[in-house]
This record gives sequence, C-alpha cells and structure tokens, in this order.
Amino acid sequence: MSEETIFSKIIRKEIPADVLYQDDLVTAFRDINPRAPSHILIIPNKLIPTTNDVEAEDELAMGRLFTVAKKLAKEEGIDEDGYRLIVNCNSHGGQEVYHIHMHLLGGRPLGPLLLG
Ligand code: 5GP
Repeated sequence: MSEETIFSKIIRKEIPADVLYQDDLVTAFRDINPRAPSHILIIPNKLIPTTNDVEAEDELAMGRLFTVAKKLAKEEGIDEDGYRLIVNCNSHGGQEVYHIHMHLLGGRPLGPLLLG
C-alpha cells in the first residue's frame, strides 16, 4: 500500500487549495510556492507515487494530465507564448511529494528552470 500524501487531502477537499479543475480522473490546483506567474499542479486522483509505478490501466488518467494542461494553459493565456510541463521522479528527479504530479509553468520566459 502506498502512503497518502497531502495531495490526497486536496483531492478530497479536506484541506484548502486553489482548485482549478477536477473530474473523475484528475485534479488541478495552483502550486503553494509558485516558481512562475502560472504554476499549476495536475495530478491523477488515484494515488500513483511515481512514474515508476504507472501501469497500463493508468494510461487514460496519464493522458488526461495533458489534455487538462492544454485547457488550463489556454485559460491562463499562456498557450501561445508557451509553457513547460515537468514531472519529477524520485530523489535525483527532485520529487518531494510522492503522488505523481505534472507541473504546468508559464507566464514568463522560463530559461533553464528546473524544479527540484
Ligand atoms: P515536486 O518537487 O515533488 O515535483 O513538487 C512538489 C510541489 O508541490 C512543489 O512545487 C510544492 O510547492 C508543491 N506543494 C507541496 N505541498 C503543497 C500543498 O500543500 N499545496 C499546494 N498547493 N502545493 C504544494
């Protein structure tokens, strides 16, 4: 059994977060420590700790991360200028929260920005 993180509580609305989107598969909310004018986390509702744990049955949810990223990028007005999607894995990847999350970053030129 994987251990729940704070993100499970955000999905269940047990703790506050600026939730921008939620459906049966994914939830998106603003990062508490934004590294760019738009910094949104998009996560599967199912607890999948890292990309190493993704199974074939998760492909729909993993694809949904991208379609929601595209929708939110448009809503944020950053789709034309561009943005960056980042998924960190384990310690060398700089992962801090062990519930897969896609970072959507934009709103300024990002340069060599890495997260970790
Ligand atoms: P990681 O380094 O694991 O890829 O990124 C974790 C991200 O989650 C960080 O950017 C951090 O600011 C964000 N984060 C951690 N705890 C919370 C929280 O309780 N609420 C929100 N909205 N973001 C969080």
